[in-house]
Formats: sequence, C-alpha cells, structure tokens
Amino acid sequence: MTAQAEGDRSGEPTGTHIYNNVTCPFCGLLCDDLQITRTGSLLKVNNGCPRATAGFQRPLPAAKPLIRGSEASLEEAVKAAAEIVRGAKLPLYGGMAGDVANARAMLSIADRTGGVVDHALSEGQYRNFRVVQTSGWIMSTLTEARNRADLFVIVGSDIHKLHGRFFDRIVTPDETMFESLGGKRTVIFIGEGLDTSAATGPRVKEVITLPTAKDRIPEVLAAISAIVRGHPISSGGEEVKRNSLLASFLGSSGNADEVAGIKRADIEKVAEKFKAANYGVLVWSPPALSMPEADLTVHMMTEIVRELNTTTRFAGLSLGGNEGAPSAASTCTWQTGYPLRVSFASGAPEYDANRYNIARMLTDGEGDMLMWVASIGTDIGLPQTAVPTVVLGTPGLRLAQPPTVYIPVGTPGIDHTGQMVRCDNVVSLPMQNLGRSQLPSSADVLAAIEAAL
Ligand code: SF4
Repeated sequence: MTAQAEGDRSGEPTGTHIYNNVTCPFCGLLCDDLQITRTGSLLKVNNGCPRATAGFQRPLPAAKPLIRGSEASLEEAVKAAAEIVRGAKLPLYGGMAGDVANARAMLSIADRTGGVVDHALSEGQYRNFRVVQTSGWIMSTLTEARNRADLFVIVGSDIHKLHGRFFDRIVTPDETMFESLGGKRTVIFIGEGLDTSAATGPRVKEVITLPTAKDRIPEVLAAISAIVRGHPISSGGEEVKRNSLLASFLGSSGNADEVAGIKRADIEKVAEKFKAANYGVLVWSPPALSMPEADLTVHMMTEIVRELNTTTRFAGLSLGGNEGAPSAASTCTWQTGYPLRVSFASGAPEYDANRYNIARMLTDGEGDMLMWVASIGTDIGLPQTAVPTVVLGTPGLRLAQPPTVYIPVGTPGIDHTGQMVRCDNVVSLPMQNLGRSQLPSSADVLAAIEAAL
C-alpha cells in the first residue's frame, strides 16, 4: 500500500479547489450536478440539499487504526484483521456501505473465505426484491420520469425529507428533454404527515393529498386498484365480493362511503386521474414503507401499474438506495446471479433471503466473525455482537461497541474516486476525489486483508 494509505490524515490538503459536476454519495439519487469548493479540508456545497451539505461538511475527526482499542499502524491492523478472518469458520461480511469497488472486494474476500454477504439496509430493499422475484414489475427511471411523467403519486414515503432534491430535479425542473414549461404535473400524496411543500412552482398543476395512516395505505391502494379495473367499491359491489382484502377493510369500517378514513368520492377522483394520465409514476422509498407486510404494498402498486398499462402508460419508481445499497446489490447480482444475502460457504454462491440475513444470523448466534464496512454515513454502526469484529469505517462512525480491529477509510466521492449505482439501477455514476483526506478506500484495505490471508 502507498503512503497515501497510512490510515491517518498526515499531509493535510492545502489551497482552494473548485470541483464541478460532483456526484453526491449521501442518498440513492446520486445527484451529479453539485459544485464543491474545497479550502484545505473544508468543503463548501452548492446545489446540495440539507443532507448533502451535512454530509460533505461533517467534520472529519483524526482517526488511527486500532487493535483492541490501542493505536496501530495500518499494516498491523490489516494483519490483525487477516488473523481474525483466517480463524473464522463462517465469516460474515456486512454493512457493505461503499461503492462498486468496495462491493467487488467484499465479494472477493467472501468467496475466498466461504463467507456470507449482506448489506446493512437490505431489509428495505427486500420489500422490492420479493416482488421482483415473484411477479416482476414495470419501472421507470429518474430520467424518464423527469422528462415524460404528467402524474406523480407519492406513496407512504416522505420523499422531500429523504431525498431533498427529488422534487427540484425530477418533478419540478425548469426544463425537460422534450419541452420547457409546457407540461404540467399533478402530484398526489397518499399517506398522512408527508411534506408536500416542494410540490410547487410553475410546473405543478395540482396537488392532492389522501391523508391516511401508514398502515392503512394498503386499503386505499386496494380501493384504487378496484376502480382502475372498472369495479365499484361500494360494500355490495362485485369487486368487494371478489377482493377479500378490500371487503375486510370495508367490513371493518362498516361504511363503504369511506376507505381508511378517506371519502370514497376522493379516492374515486384520484383513481380517475390515474386512468387519465398519459404517463403516471407511482413513487415510493422502500425503507419508508414500515407497515406490516410492506412487500404486499409494493406488490399492490405494481399490480395497479400493470392494469393501467392496458390503456395508458404507467410505471413504478423506487427511490431509497442510501449507503451504497444499489451498488452492493447490483454488483452481487452481476457477479453471482443473486441479490444480496449470499453465502459462499459451500464453495459456490448460494442464495437465501432468510438464512443469509446477517442481522438474523447474529441474533441466532450464527457466524463467528463480522467484517463491517461503513464508508459513507455515520449512522450504520456495527450491530451488537459477541463475535470478533473488524470495522472499516469513516472516522466518526457511531459504534455501539468497540470493534476488535478498526481501520479508518475514506468516503467514495470525497476522499477517493469510484463508481456508485443510482437507486433506479440503470446507471453507475463516477465519484470524484475531492482531496479532503488521504484515507485509503475500503476496497484497498479489503484487498490488503485478503492478500494477507
Ligand atoms: S437528494 Fe440525495 S444525492 Fe441529491 S444532493 Fe441530496 S443527499 Fe445528495
């Protein structure tokens, strides 16, 4: 490894540099039009949302590699990590918060050592994966939605808080590829307490809210599904007799004039807007769908989309994808043929969404060491566990317990170059090195650990 990979911050950056078209790593949108001015190690952000500004401007504490709490050189820490990996019968490789190179390196060492790979946020992703695996779906992309959609339906997800520039870049841009301000959008929010403040400006024609509790959103979707298929939702209607989910909802309220606290007339009005759209998009963020059986809610949305495509154009658009989750999932898929939660213990990749869920494995006492990578945000700290742990983390990472070995690593798009996959899974974007520090990439450290095995 080079002197650059010494794991400390000797050689502080100097001078002022302006970086254009910077890709932001702090949520799955990967906005690629930021301008960052670096003075020394301080970063000033233009075009960023509050989350981006907080991420780029987070003070980077000085950090050294640690072995059982004592400072060590990078070489010593790599050697200690390799010893822990070598002694494990079933190593677990989790967190996976990084770029494509990080995911490749984690898959490589997992393959070499017969380990299991999983991402810290894959539970949210599985709300989508289960639907893709069982029934498939029709999805849009950020670019397609920005350029073509005339109806956005935000379902159960506080998109403006989670992805601060989604409205600015996708729903209300000044220009799209095919026209300027001619095409106006209707924006519908399904769910209570959602921040609607960004759905404004000359491009927005109308904003409608169906404010229902999150766990009752499936009832509203079931009612919309019935209407778009041409069936009445009155308590005596044929659709209610056929649709046990809808029937139970209406039965429980005893009032067919309301569904989940929303007037039936309002739901019918919204369903008519679905049918009248030239290109509608149902938008959700999987981690926000915290209602029970959230994958069934995703499934219901994809069924509405499927039905509407018999008469018009409609698609889903899943956001989320923070902490490099799409980079980990895509890399795992193109290398093994499976999404995350893959074991190499048998010598070949084996997929099982429950068996190789690392959170469950740790709870049930499976696995005998945990390697955890968290190179982007500070909130996905190591889970509580009694097994030896190796953490490759950004300085300042919140840790519930001290790891056996800690090695500070840089963040892709700030401390080193890289590539990350966007939440719509159609592009990987280049990440620039803004020269903030000389911390090594997690991929380089993982390669060094693998070489030391
Ligand atoms: S919306 Fe996401 S990618 Fe875009 S600037 Fe904000 S945190 Fe960064």
